[in-house]
Amino acid sequence: MAVFAEEVNLAGYTTLRLGGPARRFVEATTEAELVAAVRKADDAGEPVLVLGGGSNLVVADAGFPGTVVHVGARGVERTAGDGDTVLVRVRAGEDWDPFVARCVSDGLAGVECLSGIPGRVGATPIQNVGAYGQDVSETIVEVRAYDRRARACVTLDRDACRFTYRHSVFKGNDRYVVLDVTYALRETEESQPIAYAELARRLGVRPGERVSLKEARDAVLELRRGKGMVLDAADPDSRSAGSFFTNPILTSEQLAGLERRVAERLGPDAAFPRYPEPDGRTKTSAAWLIDKAGFAKGHARGPVRISTKHTLALTNPGGASTADLLALAREVRAGVRDAFGVELVNEPVMVGVAL
Ligand SMILES: Cc1cc2nc3c(=O)[nH]c(=O)nc-3n(C[C@H](O)[C@H](O)[C@H](O)COP(=O)(O)OP(=O)(O)OC[C@H]3O[C@@H](n4cnc5c(N)ncnc54)[C@H](O)[C@@H]3O)c2cc1C
Repeated sequence: MAVFAEEVNLAGYTTLRLGGPARRFVEATTEAELVAAVRKADDAGEPVLVLGGGSNLVVADAGFPGTVVHVGARGVERTAGDGDTVLVRVRAGEDWDPFVARCVSDGLAGVECLSGIPGRVGATPIQNVGAYGQDVSETIVEVRAYDRRARACVTLDRDACRFTYRHSVFKGNDRYVVLDVTYALRETEESQPIAYAELARRLGVRPGERVSLKEARDAVLELRRGKGMVLDAADPDSRSAGSFFTNPILTSEQLAGLERRVAERLGPDAAFPRYPEPDGRTKTSAAWLIDKAGFAKGHARGPVRISTKHTLALTNPGGASTADLLALAREVRAGVRDAFGVELVNEPVMVGVAL
């Protein structure tokens, strides 16, 4: 049965350990409870915040003036598939990394490079979770959701999800409550081709080669730990929301502007990371821009700081407020804008605050 409470401190439910109280808090352990809690709040005209693992959230110090529904419905079901493809339907409240670990041990390929990412399954389509050359848009075949506008359960296929880099139809849109996600995985002991150069180097293979699922998972976890990107109570650098800024994707005009600013600042021969996008634009590295704008790892502002292991993570080692975190984020964003003319955009979802 769903558990209701009032004035629950959200800091205890976010990986940043930040955020004030929720007026109402519902622990929904089944799909029926989840839908009922959202319907009830909608009927009462109350704002709703759907909460998974709280690993991609920046919540206001003032808290949330409505109902927070914590998604806890669990279950993993193998359904049909063609050839060596297996369809796996996973309820939104399953924790993501244990699911990945299970896929690896069951010989199911497609999510092994997404090892170590915190949070729950229901959030993976929201920002098209990705890392080390994989993202969930490659394996998601459908998402079942409660549509708050239609007041009905609907199924969105991959096209309807409109996945792009760290984005989908679900991000910045509170219309859908994800109930379960179906992934198409390949039944094999071998990983998908290793696409990410740093991971390939760590594995001692060339990009495009395959390794065992376990080797891929172990190498990803090792790389992530080295960057404070695996949740670890003993590592204050992991008290973050992961990458705080997305990698900017630049038009040719913006790219020319960045080339000019890089040459002015770092000399005519200076190079910067650039990755072509299918639509002709160019992705660059937010971490590189932040570093070259003069923000070193460990840069602190009051009680918050840039991770000592990774330039892209803003951390609360303890005792900070959301206002402190936003002040640091604004300082970094303004520094990059002044140095390179590029506007960084936050990756985590802001609740009751704006950058
Ligand atoms: C140390 C660390 C490392 C990270 N590394 C990565 C990484 O490599 N790649 C990456 O992509 N992300 C990364 N993240 C970000 C984060 O883990 C992912 O975005 C994750 O999917 C968020 O899941 P969650 O359950 O914690 O979502 P929450 O933070 O609880 O919610 C995030 C958003 O999704 C919405 N939401 C959650 N569940 C549902 C649902 N069932 N239905 C509708 N909306 C929902 C929320 O309302 C909110 O808008 C990292 C975070 C941390 C702390």
